[in-house]
Amino acid sequence: MKLKISKIFPKAIMFIASVCLFICCEWYHAELDHTLNWKAETIVDENEVAATGLSNWFKAEEISDKVFSRMWLKSWKENCPLNRSELRYLKVLHRNEDGKPQRGEMVVNVAIADKVLTIFRQLYTAGYRIERMVLIDNFDADDETSMRANNSSSFNFRFMTGSTTKISKHGLGLAIDINTLYNPYVKQKSDGTWHIEPATGEEYAFNRDNRTDIPYKIDHEDLAYKLFTAAGFECGGDWTSLKDYQHFEIDL
Ligand SMILES: [Zn+2]
Repeated sequence: MKLKISKIFPKAIMFIASVCLFICCEWYHAELDHTLNWKAETIVDENEVAATGLSNWFKAEEISDKVFSRMWLKSWKENCPLNRSELRYLKVLHRNEDGKPQRGEMVVNVAIADKVLTIFRQLYTAGYRIERMVLIDNFDADDETSMRANNSSSFNFRFMTGSTTKISKHGLGLAIDINTLYNPYVKQKSDGTWHIEPATGEEYAFNRDNRTDIPYKIDHEDLAYKLFTAAGFECGGDWTSLKDYQHFEIDL
């Protein structure tokens, strides 16, 4: 009997020690990974960001089951030909309305994920303000509601107006809208009246050139404009048939 205990005892100690080590490693890993349990729209302490390094706060990940369930039948509709492996979920920090670091999230095409991540990191470092960056699925993939909330977003599957085969740039995750309420889509209709999206952005739609009363205004002096266009995107604010001041898209 004595012999048996002396044989089992060290093994038991080893087993308990291994379990403890495993738990400690998991805990340590979780402590280091600040993007675990990412909840967009929550504020991060400035000191925490400084202490842990900026790289820990900007990541491009595959679309997890959890994220995909949020997108399902909203931004990712049943006739969407894109596989979720062709998309990436971005976790970024952005400076909110008050200049505080805030968690943001965005789904983009895998082909531009790193490029977009770099731009958001540059915008954050420069103190550029983005009020809100959550998945459009939080608004049931309704563009108008998302824009009224001044939400910045990218992927939302849809065909181009009047087409059943041509997918819009947002439907491919190749277009990004920034600070949407203050940088509306503006088009003159054939009867001379104006179509503005969001409708609540009308007061920011006209005579924008010399105006200084438009918050988050995107024009040629704007840093987002400069970074996106330098990276190969075109801005809808430069279009002539209509203006889409919030919109940056890229051809691949
Ligand atoms: Zn757009």
